[in-house]
Amino acid sequence: MLKTHWHYPTAITVGEHCSDQLAQYCKDADIHKPLMVTDPVLADSKMVRNALAQCRLADLEIQIFHGVQGNPTGQNVEAGIHHYLEGKHDGIIAFGGGSSIDAAKAIALAANQSLPLWEFEDKGDNWQKADAKVIAPVIAIPTTAGTGSEVGRAAVITDENQQLKKIIFHPKMMPAHVLLDPSLSTALPQPLTAATGMDALSHNLEAFCSPSYHPMADAISLEAMRMIMHYLPVAYLDGNNVQARTQMLVASTMGATAFQKGLGAMHAIAHSLGAVYNQHHGLLNAVLMPYVLTANRPRINEKMARLSRYLALPKSDFDGVMAWVLSLREELAIPHTLVEIGIDNQQAQRIGEMAAADAAAAGNPVSFDAAQYADIFCHAVSGNLTD
Ligand SMILES: [Zn+2]
Repeated sequence: MLKTHWHYPTAITVGEHCSDQLAQYCKDADIHKPLMVTDPVLADSKMVRNALAQCRLADLEIQIFHGVQGNPTGQNVEAGIHHYLEGKHDGIIAFGGGSSIDAAKAIALAANQSLPLWEFEDKGDNWQKADAKVIAPVIAIPTTAGTGSEVGRAAVITDENQQLKKIIFHPKMMPAHVLLDPSLSTALPQPLTAATGMDALSHNLEAFCSPSYHPMADAISLEAMRMIMHYLPVAYLDGNNVQARTQMLVASTMGATAFQKGLGAMHAIAHSLGAVYNQHHGLLNAVLMPYVLTANRPRINEKMARLSRYLALPKSDFDGVMAWVLSLREELAIPHTLVEIGIDNQQAQRIGEMAAADAAAAGNPVSFDAAQYADIFCHAVSGNLTD
């Protein structure tokens, strides 16, 4: 079985059952009283019970905080900080999907700061207001293959007072060690496998389309899209396929590594819809994907031709990529329109304004204004792919 170690962008261990060594990795990172941060469903699972038992057997004073919801909120982070300080913890184990890992990283950043969490929103050089020395070390164990939050230096947290998703950033939020253990994602149900896998695709696709100069990110995103093309349908149809689960975990970390280059309009709209409608982030990106590609078309024709050649698609142009995206979505039972997941166009103007102001919009190949974002959103509501 594949087992390898990488140190880019951080220490990553890949392999079936590698999380069985969690206690040792904690000690290596000088963590002796870890707080495990996860969600209420996982908290009750065998894999969390095993991880807790393993750590206690190794004399780690571990406790668990399981108050993280999907699209985690400032209140979730506050509650986690309370547990962290109360238990006098010295590090965090981020265990779960992107929501748990984002919340864990935000807790690690803010627990010992004198300023509140929102002061570290990713604007200007806000991050320099944080005392880097007191940021807690994090070991990240993703159980889904999508957000890639385990290799990210930011967390997306909803400010419930303003109904806004805010990006909290600090370079030291990067986990000290990432464990990619496919045996933890084999139980993921089909709809979540599909939605998270499409999120990983959207990260790689938006990073690749983003116009800034970053050949390393381009190369990483191209190969990750090839892996997703081959292995996402396999992981979806046969959840217990360890090879497919491994490849998807790696492609997901590659996506988040690549999107240091930039994201784009899929994420700008998905963040806005996530904050207003609390829908699954990956599912939103999956539905939005072809509409954003269509809107970006004049600026990405050449890149789509390159991508189609790399993927060896039947047609080597924009239409070839579009045909692949549409058929992949169908294979994964992703709805074609937002209306099918309960989102109508009543708030189009507001969504347009939020998307134009979202940090991800800066990476899009075309700089759309609020009205253009509202248009793309309306097309995704109704299923209009013609212009
Ligand atoms: Zn995403």
